Amino acid sequence: MRPQPPTNYLASYPADLTEKIRRMIEQGSLAGWLLSKYPDSHKVRTDKALYDYVVQLKDMYLRNAGPLNKVAFDSRLHVTSNALGMHTSKSQVHGSKLKAKREIHVAAIFRDMPPEFLRMIVVHELAHIKESEHNKSFYKLCCNMEPNYYQLEFDLRAYLTWLESGGKPLWSPNQPTHHACNPPFKA
Ligand SMILES: [Zn+2]
Repeated sequence: MRPQPPTNYLASYPADLTEKIRRMIEQGSLAGWLLSKYPDSHKVRTDKALYDYVVQLKDMYLRNAGPLNKVAFDSRLHVTSNALGMHTSKSQVHGSKLKAKREIHVAAIFRDMPPEFLRMIVVHELAHIKESEHNKSFYKLCCNMEPNYYQLEFDLRAYLTWLESGGKPLWSPNQPTHHACNPPFKA
């Protein structure tokens, strides 16, 4: 079997930013930087909890967009194919009516992530309800729901780059809360 070429999660960013992340991984400083910025993992553990979380956000920003039929963590979504989330809208005929069936799937890797990254991917998928392309109005919707959207997407992609390079996952459900100790503790 031919090995898969590594996914470049930072492909759409300027070279100096990509280079900065590559250097931080090489120097072993990326994990600490991410953990000090995002110390905690979120508590959304189940599909039911995820559904409630997504609906809450949707009701806040996209109240008129129609109901969501399904929201779930999806282990079939592989981040290697660069699909972090998925939004589907199928038209179905119910009697004489045409009804849209909307689903949001979030890659299972987001189960163990900081709350900021979960919010970012959910905001991204919610914005797709209104706008299917990744265009200007799409990102405007994202930033309306999460003003820090661009930074969060970059940091998330930095984390995925870290995992791709063989780094260990930084967040887990049972981890103790990380506290940034500054200055470093000396024995
Ligand atoms: Zn998208």
